[in-house]
Amino acid sequence: MTDTTIKDILLNFIFPRRCVSCGKLAAYFCSICSPMIRTIGLTICPVCTKPSPFGYTHPRCKTKYSLDGLTSVFRYTGPIQKSIKMLKYRRVTDLVPELSKLIIARIEPFPQYAFHKFLKVKPVVIPIPLHWWRKRGRWFNQSELIAEELAKDWNLEVRNNLLQRKKLTNSQAGLKKDERKANIKDAFEVSSVFDLPLTVDHVILFDDVWTTGSTMREAGNVLKRAGVTKVWALTIAR
Ligand SMILES: [Zn+2]
Ligand SMILES: [Zn+2]
Repeated sequence: MTDTTIKDILLNFIFPRRCVSCGKLAAYFCSICSPMIRTIGLTICPVCTKPSPFGYTHPRCKTKYSLDGLTSVFRYTGPIQKSIKMLKYRRVTDLVPELSKLIIARIEPFPQYAFHKFLKVKPVVIPIPLHWWRKRGRWFNQSELIAEELAKDWNLEVRNNLLQRKKLTNSQAGLKKDERKANIKDAFEVSSVFDLPLTVDHVILFDDVWTTGSTMREAGNVLKRAGVTKVWALTIAR
């Protein structure tokens, strides 16, 4: 038995894990609910959000500052949706390694994915930042925690301090596509600690959920204007 399994067993004894979906005392994703986790089959272009093989941005959609591709792993439904909400609003940080393991396990068996090609060029991982005021209220940025776990596994570096949120935006929840775009406009900046243009070539921009994509497109735009060559968007769910 490894140290981690012993630690897991002990922790489970002290803080029993309940399934995020049915509440049964077992694991966060129990054997009955796990099959309800849906992987995304159809990949889309992050600019027009229409189907696109492997998640590449369509050549016709590409502009100087657009995202280069998008990988969303799961459908935003069932146990995945519940776990993301629990992490975000109920601060169940134990879910971070569990969700990260699920993401890695779903991505690894598909070496033909465009995303793997991107991993090979050693991109830096940048999680979508929260405004410091919001982070203060929540104590942590869930995307930052998961990005760190993923980067550890993929042997990549995380840059939490590079992209900043300069505007305290309203929640995107409940807003229509146009309203989301307006709400997030000019929300990000590259920290003034860094000289421009940045010497970062490739970035994986990470967020928990892709809804209309306006947050990711806006952040990607800021990074590219600052000198980043390629930005690939990665989200847990869509
Ligand atoms: Zn369950
Ligand atoms: Zn497109």
